[in-house]
Amino acid sequence: MRVAIVGSGFAGSLLARILAVQGHGVALLERGTHPRFAIGESSTPLANLTLERLARRYGLGDCYDLAAHGRWIARFPELRRGLKRGFTFYRHHAGRPFANAGLRSERLLVAASPNDHVADNHWLRADVDHHFVRAAIQAGVEYRDRVEVTPDTLKALHVDFVVDASGPGGFLARQLAIPSRLNRMHTHAGLLFSHFDGVRLMPDVVPGLPAGPYPDDWAAVHHIIEEGWLYSLRFDDGVTSAGFLLRDRVPGAPEEMWRHLLRRYPTIGALFGDAKPLFPLSYKPRIQHRLARATGPGWAMLPHAFAFVDPLFSTGIAWSLRAIERLALSFENGSVPSERDLARYEAQLSGEADQIDWLVAGAYHAMARFDLFAAQAMIYFATVSFAEVNQRIHATETAAWSGFLGVGDSRLGGLPRASLRRLRHARTREDRREFVSWVTRSIAPRNVCGLANPATHGLYPVDLDMLVQRHAVLGMSRESLVSALPALRA
Ligand SMILES: Cc1cc2nc3c(=O)[nH]c(=O)nc-3n(C[C@H](O)[C@H](O)[C@H](O)COP(=O)(O)OP(=O)(O)OC[C@H]3O[C@@H](n4cnc5c(N)ncnc54)[C@H](O)[C@@H]3O)c2cc1C
Repeated sequence: MRVAIVGSGFAGSLLARILAVQGHGVALLERGTHPRFAIGESSTPLANLTLERLARRYGLGDCYDLAAHGRWIARFPELRRGLKRGFTFYRHHAGRPFANAGLRSERLLVAASPNDHVADNHWLRADVDHHFVRAAIQAGVEYRDRVEVTPDTLKALHVDFVVDASGPGGFLARQLAIPSRLNRMHTHAGLLFSHFDGVRLMPDVVPGLPAGPYPDDWAAVHHIIEEGWLYSLRFDDGVTSAGFLLRDRVPGAPEEMWRHLLRRYPTIGALFGDAKPLFPLSYKPRIQHRLARATGPGWAMLPHAFAFVDPLFSTGIAWSLRAIERLALSFENGSVPSERDLARYEAQLSGEADQIDWLVAGAYHAMARFDLFAAQAMIYFATVSFAEVNQRIHATETAAWSGFLGVGDSRLGGLPRASLRRLRHARTREDRREFVSWVTRSIAPRNVCGLANPATHGLYPVDLDMLVQRHAVLGMSRESLVSALPALRA
């Protein structure tokens, strides 16, 4: 079959290469060039598990190595990346430095890996995307850059199928006049961002915080503020990708907005005060998008072309890889995906876009109070850790079609929507206590990691003993779980 893929971010390039490995003729069409700046950098265990499955199934050794920090450094030292040991959250209050209250600090650290070697990575997208394009070309993909793709371009290529991997570029949305469904999204945030040199480390600015399961800064760091939140992703070479997600526009030009927020939150000011933006700060008023369709006769979109919610909880890369896996499987029998596969693919993407939106919109409501936020975050961590452990133990391709973020799970599937509803009405201290207790009860049937446990003081290591204790949650005997432990440590 002849397939055109429009957009050569990592997602378009990786899918192009897999289809070429399967024997399809693939044209990868890019309107820009590589290397180029791109945002969306922080990977997760579920993303890496998908990379490993793709590596095994299609013989992509580099994908296996890029799925863990130690292997990445050993094989591709020239591709810039950052060590990501987990998810770090702090709550800041306007006009006050971050309060070090010891174990009662408004701080949450959830480890995603037990050590640096198997840890996740932040991807310096300029390098990683360029790598994936080069690998696609080597696999026989016909790559063209600096092209303005039109219906005539596609006609001339005689393609049987088009994949839209153009991200917010919205290639097919424009060509096919696909309506927007932004009005059904609950999340609303603008973005003020750049890459920076010279960002300080949290322990240097707030000394004496109790030791966590990993060094606080080697993580996806989330600084929650009254207007939204700031992500901060540190690469191993010292550069940091950072951006404020703001519910409402702060007045002024981007540089003024930035200075205003640094003044308002003294600890963030101390972290970033001497940092130099590596390119001018940029502001985008609303970053969410969502379309009415993800597939049609002869075409399909990758997630970032179909919908985007927010960087909160780093869902983008993992979701994109899951979708690549699904489409790749649908192309395996030598023809284009069947009508049935496309319908299933679209239904899943649509349900998953809703799910991410409910979870993130709920988290924005919960940001008002750190206890609420930490509880809402537990829904995310329960969902992904349950999926991760299952995928590690039962390493099969059936994971591809399992719902992302608990979609379709009888216990977890309904939680993001229900929590958003509850959070909208949580006002009093009693409401907050009730919300925390509801989350704890609701995730219990899937809580393989001992989440939502006040005795941890918000510091969650990867705890395999806890997992063994919870064997029944996975429907396994203690003995069978113990014998599966090597797969979990990998
Ligand atoms: C602020 C922000 C932070 C994020 N943080 C994270 C994070 O921490 N973790 C995470 O997992 N995800 C994150 N994401 C999501 C992540 O960016 C996406 O999931 C990821 O970029 C998807 O990759 P992609 O290859 O599908 O699309 P893109 O990276 O958007 O690539 C699209 C490509 O298509 C090309 N293109 C566009 N239009 C056309 C056209 N008409 N013709 C030809 N080519 C075209 C573009 O030039 C580009 O090369 C974040 C997103 C944002 C906005």
